[in-house]
Amino acid sequence: MSNRCDLEEISTNDTLQQQSTDEFIKHILTLLTSVTVSENLDTDLWLNNNPDAKKLYDYIISLRELTTALAKGDLKKTVPGKGYILANLKALQANLLHLTWQSKMVANGDFSQRVDFLGEFSDAFNEMALKLQNSNMQLVKMATTDTLTQIPNRLALAQFLSAAFKKSVEQDTPFSIIIFDIDNFKRVNDTYGHDIGDKVLVKISEILNSQFRSNDIFSRYGGEEFMAALPGISQENCFKIAKRAISLVSKTKIPANADEHISITVSAGVSSRISKDITYENIIKRSDNALYKAKTSGKNKVCISSKK
Ligand code: GH3
Ligand code: MG
Ligand code: MG
Repeated sequence: MSNRCDLEEISTNDTLQQQSTDEFIKHILTLLTSVTVSENLDTDLWLNNNPDAKKLYDYIISLRELTTALAKGDLKKTVPGKGYILANLKALQANLLHLTWQSKMVANGDFSQRVDFLGEFSDAFNEMALKLQNSNMQLVKMATTDTLTQIPNRLALAQFLSAAFKKSVEQDTPFSIIIFDIDNFKRVNDTYGHDIGDKVLVKISEILNSQFRSNDIFSRYGGEEFMAALPGISQENCFKIAKRAISLVSKTKIPANADEHISITVSAGVSSRISKDITYENIIKRSDNALYKAKTSGKNKVCISSKK
C-alpha cells in the first residue's frame, strides 16, 4: 500500500514538474515575443530548485529590459548580467551613447568627429561631418577674405589684432601696426575708370603683401587703405619695413591698359604698443595720426607716431 502511495506521489511530482516546465517555457516565449507579460510567474519555487532555469529566466529579463530601453532611445539603462548577447547589446548601447556625444560635438563646431562602428550609418555620418567641415572652412574663408584683393578683411584683422595685442601684453613683446593709404587714388579712378582702379588696387595689395611674414597680417582696412600688424617687431624696424614696402610700390610701373603704365605712390603711418595702451585701438589711433602727418607733409612717405 505504502509503495503504491509513493509511486502516486512521484507521478504527481512529475506531473507538477512537467506543468511547471511547460509554464516556464510559455512564460519565456511571452517574455521574448509579447509586449505585455503576466505579472507573476507562478513557478518561483520551481525556479529556485532549477538554478539553470533561474539563470536563463534572469538573463531573458535583462535582455528584455535592455532591448526595450534601447528601442525607446534610453541609452542609460543598466541591467545585471554579462555573456555574449548582453555584452554585445551593452557595447552597442555604449557606442550609441558615444555617438550622442559626438553629435553634440559636431553641433558645437567640432567637425573632426568620425564614427566607425555602425557600418553604412558610419559612412553617412562621416561624410556629413566631412562636408560640414569643408563648407564651414569655405564660409570662414569667405567671411574673412576681401573679395577684390583676396587678402584678409576687417573681420579677420580684428580677430588677429585682439589675439596679438593680448599676447604682446602678456609676454611684454613689441607689437607694431602700419596703415597704408594709396596717394591720389581718386585720380586713378577718374582718369582710367573704376575697373582699372580695381586692378591697380589689387596690384598694390600684392606688392605690399609680399613684404610681410607669415606671422604678420596684411589686410584691407577700407577702400584704398591697408593695415599690417606685426607681432614682435619694434617701431623702428616696422618703420624700415613700411619704407621698403612703399618704395617698392613707387618703383613699380603698374599696367593701366595695353600700352600705358601708371606710377603709384603710397603713404604710411606706423606706431607700436606702449605700456599705457589698453586696446589695439590706441595703436591704430597713433598710426592714423602718423599717416595724416605723411599725407600733409608731401605723401609717398612713412611717418612714425610720437609716442604719446
Ligand atoms: P589721398 O592721397 O589723400 O589719400 O587721396 P585719395 O584720392 O587717395 O583719397 P580719397 O579719400 O579722396 O579717395 C579715395 C578713392 O578711393 C575714392 C574711392 O572711389 C576710391 N576707392 C575706394 N575703394 C575702391 C575700390 O574698391 N575700387 C576702386 N576702383 N576705387 C576705390
Ligand atoms: Mg583713404
Ligand atoms: Mg588715398
